[in-house]
Amino acid sequence: MTVTFFDWQRATFPPGVAPYNTLSPNLIAVRHELETRHGGTRLGGYSVRPVRNGTDPSSHGFGAAINHRIEPRERLLQAVDWLIANHVRLGIQAIHDYVGCRIWHANRYPGKPMEAWWRPQRPNPANGMGQSWATYLHIETDRLNWSNNVPVHLRDLVNPLPPPVEPKPTVLFDPAKGVWGLYPLNKNKLTIREVTKPVTWDVTARFVNGAVTGLAKTQFTFADFELPKPRVASVLSVDDEIRLEYEFRLVPASGDRR
Ligand SMILES: [Zn+2]
Repeated sequence: MTVTFFDWQRATFPPGVAPYNTLSPNLIAVRHELETRHGGTRLGGYSVRPVRNGTDPSSHGFGAAINHRIEPRERLLQAVDWLIANHVRLGIQAIHDYVGCRIWHANRYPGKPMEAWWRPQRPNPANGMGQSWATYLHIETDRLNWSNNVPVHLRDLVNPLPPPVEPKPTVLFDPAKGVWGLYPLNKNKLTIREVTKPVTWDVTARFVNGAVTGLAKTQFTFADFELPKPRVASVLSVDDEIRLEYEFRLVPASGDRR
């Protein structure tokens, strides 16, 4: 299965004419999934105008493109990987990576793997190519997929990358320092003296002013982690059950979402 690239800029029909006088239902569905998995900020959808710094009609004038800002760069690249790996099911024919100064086209080099279908661009402050401020992607759909309104999660993605997850606290006992610590190392795993077992965190959380605050609790026994029970002269017995509580406050790393 491949996506057939459609050159919107050289379409034989004008922009802004039905049915291409609204944002593509396919891109609405893709954008929803993109935001769910990778966050980011909407920058633009349907808009009849020439391309930046040019005279050809923009693909935005056919509702065939969205611009989406994703920061930091690492997160944007994860989104790019997801878009490319699933571009057939997503109906994506082009990705403009401005900071990366490159454009990906579906099936550009049929002999090469799809991750290599990029072409370097000339840096240009007028259109954002190669500019550090242009931390967004231009994402374009093809003509055949333009009107696909099936929600993305029902499309049976070929190679879905796992969605980004909030780091869950991991409790680690560092024998060198003799301390317990909380580290987002292994999701839902508790590591004590190099014995790792899954543990269940009982989490209560609430949203306040854009931040998530809450309390995570778990409990386990010394035997669960093959720990010797502490023997302390002044203590006659130690409860076999260890309880841990972790208070957390998560704040979004960057800007607003719309
Ligand atoms: Zn664009």
